[in-house]
Amino acid sequence: MKMASFPGGVHPAQRKDTAYSAIERLPAPEKVYLHLSNSCGCPSKAIVKKGDAVLKGSVIAEPAGRISAFIHSPVSGIVEDIKKWPHFSGQKLEAVIIKNDFKDEFAPSRNAKDASLLAPSEITEVVRNSGIVGLGGAAFPSDVKLLPLRAHKAATLIINACECEPFLTADESLIREKAVDIIEGAKIAGRALAAKRIIIGIEDNKAETAEELLKRSSDRIQVRLLKTKYPQGGEKQLIYALTGRKVPMCGLPLDVGVAVLNVSTVFAIFEAVVKSKPLYERVVTLGAYFRKPGNVIISAGTRLEDIINFRGGLPDNVNKIVLGGPMMGQALCDLDVPVSKAASGILLMTDVERKEYECLRCMRCASVCPMGLVPRESLALYKAGKSYGGALNCIECGSCAYICPSRIPLLHYLKLSKKKLAALSCPDARSPAAPAGRTLTK
Ligand code: SF4
Ligand code: SF4
Repeated sequence: MKMASFPGGVHPAQRKDTAYSAIERLPAPEKVYLHLSNSCGCPSKAIVKKGDAVLKGSVIAEPAGRISAFIHSPVSGIVEDIKKWPHFSGQKLEAVIIKNDFKDEFAPSRNAKDASLLAPSEITEVVRNSGIVGLGGAAFPSDVKLLPLRAHKAATLIINACECEPFLTADESLIREKAVDIIEGAKIAGRALAAKRIIIGIEDNKAETAEELLKRSSDRIQVRLLKTKYPQGGEKQLIYALTGRKVPMCGLPLDVGVAVLNVSTVFAIFEAVVKSKPLYERVVTLGAYFRKPGNVIISAGTRLEDIINFRGGLPDNVNKIVLGGPMMGQALCDLDVPVSKAASGILLMTDVERKEYECLRCMRCASVCPMGLVPRESLALYKAGKSYGGALNCIECGSCAYICPSRIPLLHYLKLSKKKLAALSCPDARSPAAPAGRTLTK
């Protein structure tokens, strides 16, 4: 297989120690905390109230706009409260709190129709009703992605199996155990989009895992190995590597006739369409210094503290908890924060205090930026009280901060610039549910 890549990027240590661990299931917690802000769009609208009984898989919140998602309960039980609860954004946001009755009673499911008989619009409707959002971290409602390509002549569906962040192996473990279902999910999504071809992109550090997909590939579904390089899973980088098409600055994959779905998202689509199972749980990598690391199915809304306790407790030397991977993930400071549908990993880290030095003007940050930006300008402009316009094209991959010899947290300055600029053009961008790095789907 020919390997492709993109300009720029970095090569952090992979640390994929959990890659070959079998997927386990975390016990359901006593309570789940389901934030209404669960996608990158508008917060959903609760349709339950305190004291209501809910079943596993029943709808507890509906979309409040086009870019918004259904939320389903991962347990059966009683709605204990609807109130503000710590969110990974650092704020307290409205959440539905459900006390688990441990009866595991399921909501009646629709009769699963033969997926091959569903019209594209019916597939999209099932995806929407099942609350599926992008599981690579962006949490963009997947039904919205499935709509517009139908009219495009060279419609291509790309399945992102790169999982380029160090430590994370949730997608890889899913491919090894569920390759047949993933291929089926890709076909279903491809039908909804009327895609002419489907390409699965996977980095060459997972060549053995890629064989599982390759065995099931066909003329219509190709599997392509890509160079292991971060951020190979960035949407624009992936599209360029696999098709040679360049998504314009501030443009969308749609502009070049492509839709990109993460491999876990495609698996969720399979489960929704074929098994009538809404999205209320997913595989999450518990990595770095977890006492019991691995890939684990976790119910949405499970608090970090419950997850850590189920896996042996918090080791003494851990002083940083990261939601996601070490490059793009978010440091958390509250163990009450629950995982959302989009959480692909939790890392327990022993972070050494990093002293920041003066900028050397070495331009290494610019040389690795996959978007062709000059990240050091974000720092210079921030110090001058201004915003860096290029920040709007930043995919927040963190490559610049990773490579900087002066250890300047460039991504932090880029995010500040981005927020300021976005707030100027769209007041809604101040909302904590606004997209932060929409283009990286991993
Ligand atoms: S890599 Fe760091 S030190 Fe070098 S120019 Fe960029 S910000 Fe300055
Ligand atoms: S400027 Fe943005 S896109 Fe460029 S390397 Fe830094 S974080 Fe990545």
